[in-house]
Formats: sequence, C-alpha cells, structure tokens
Amino acid sequence: MKRLAVLGHPVGHSRSPAMQGAALAELGLAGEWSYEAIDVAPDELERRVRAMPGEGFSGANVTVPHKGAALALADNLSETAREIGAANTLSFAGEEIRADNTDAQGLLDALPAPPAGVRALVLGAGGAARAVVWALAREGAAVEVWNRTELRSRNLCAELGGTPVAAPDPATYALVVNSTAVGLGDEDPFAELPLRPSDFQAGQTVVDMVYGATPSALLTAAEASGATVVDGIEILVRQGALSLRIWTGLEPPLEAMRAAARGRA
Ligand code: NAP
Repeated sequence: MKRLAVLGHPVGHSRSPAMQGAALAELGLAGEWSYEAIDVAPDELERRVRAMPGEGFSGANVTVPHKGAALALADNLSETAREIGAANTLSFAGEEIRADNTDAQGLLDALPAPPAGVRALVLGAGGAARAVVWALAREGAAVEVWNRTELRSRNLCAELGGTPVAAPDPATYALVVNSTAVGLGDEDPFAELPLRPSDFQAGQTVVDMVYGATPSALLTAAEASGATVVDGIEILVRQGALSLRIWTGLEPPLEAMRAAARGRA
C-alpha cells in the first residue's frame, strides 16, 4: 500500500481525504493507495515528516500552519515553492524530500480565462495571498494588493510583485480574489473588506478562497450581480488534482474530486 496524507493542525475539517480518496477510487487505485489526515503540532512536524518514507508514505499535502516549515525541511524545492516561500505538496523518493507548491497553478486552473493583461485586486497578504499574487503576476496580470495590515501587503509586493493599494475601487477590476480568512467564521465580508455588493457586475470574475458548507456571502452577492464566481472548493480541487498528478503520474479525475469535496459523493 502506498500511503498519502494531509498534514495540518487542526486538520479534522479538511476535505482532502474525502476528495483524494474518491480520486484514488475513480482511478482504480483504492487497493494500492490510501490517503489520510494527520494532525501534527508545529514542533512535531520535522520528526513526523522524516519518519514518513519509512512508514510507506509516497507523499503528503501540507496545510495551515505548516506550509513554510515544510519548505524549510525539504531537500529539493520546485521553483514555484521556493519563490512563493511555501510548500503544500511533499513527495518522498527514498529518504529525499521534495517540496512543490500547487496552490498557485491550482488558482490559475480554476479561473475561467487566463489572467494575462487583466487588472486584478487581491485581498489579503497571508500564505494564500502569496501564492495568488505570485501566480497572477507571473501570468502577466496587473495585480494590486489590499491588506488590513498595510505593512504586510507592502512587504508582499516588494517580494513577489504587484502594487499595494490602500483604498481600492473594486468595481474597476476585472478579477477580485478574496484570499483573506474573512468568511471562515461568521464575519460580514462587506464590513471587514473594502467591498460593497454594488461593486460587482457582469464581466467580472470574483474568487473566494475561503470555503464552507454554504456559498459565501461574497460570492452570493457577486453572482447575483452577474459576475462569474469561483469558490474555494474549486481551488481546493485544482490544487489537489495537481498534487495527485505529482504523486501518481496519472490524470486526476476532476469530476469525482469535485463531487467528493462538495459532499455530493
Ligand atoms: P493567513 O496566512 O493566516 O492570512 C490571513 C489573512 O486574512 C491576512 O491577510 C489577514 O490580514 C486577513 N484577515 C484575517 N481576518 C481579517 C479580518 N477580520 N479583516 C480583514 N482581513 C483579515 O491565512 P492563509 O493561509 O492566507 O488563508 C487565508 C484563507 O484562505 C483561509 O480561509 C484559508 O482557509 C483559505 N485557503 C483556501 C485554500 C483553498 O484551497 N481553497 C488554500 C489556501 C487557503 P492581516 O495581515 O491584517 O492579519
């Protein structure tokens, strides 16, 4: 049995085991590969990861709060992981640990059209925003970044590209990406973020990285105004599909992954 896992703290809420389990079943690999969730405290991460190759693991996804630490303990880094400064995918070849970042390409794969030449507003300057800004800037979008704590957006742009913006006019952007944690709890995005429901319109794409049981208030308002919306589950599916391809070399079954991630399977 080849084992895979997602490492996080906490990790019980993760939809990756259901999603990757469904993908393995769809590929006919359920008897050969398995995928589990492992809760690892930050001070245990290195010991846990180094033990994994000897326990039959071929790879792992890494989620909050371990994406930076996972990069630091890897022997080999993809260019994307190195530049973003975070890894969400580890692969083991013998004792050697390779780190990749599929969050960036996962976002691009989830967009309805390539973002080259598009004005994009990214909200947030945490780990998720780093991958989003890196991906959009690299594809040639004109990226502006707003964050509640301005110093962080200034630092992020200095490192990864994009321009910090203090008071954006969201109606003027073709692409708006919420990569803050607003919406994870019961916060009102229109109170916490520089957005109003009337800012959205047809022709715009609005992405909310946050995912929960119901459509977010942000995406509900954007969709009602005619904007194209992309939710956090689609982004989860796309990054997970890329990780699965790295581990198995096989084409990921997107529909089965979507259905499982959305609790429809
Ligand atoms: P993080 O590193 O902790 O960053 C949190 C960000 O949210 C910071 O920019 C923070 O601003 C901002 N923020 C938090 N509360 C806020 C509030 N009340 N008002 C305004 N801004 C607020 O977290 P992360 O790893 O970037 O994750 C962000 C979100 O993306 C999470 O909900 C996570 O679940 C989601 N995510 C989804 C996927 C996916 O596959 N769909 C992948 C990665 C992350 P300050 O700097 O001012 O604190």
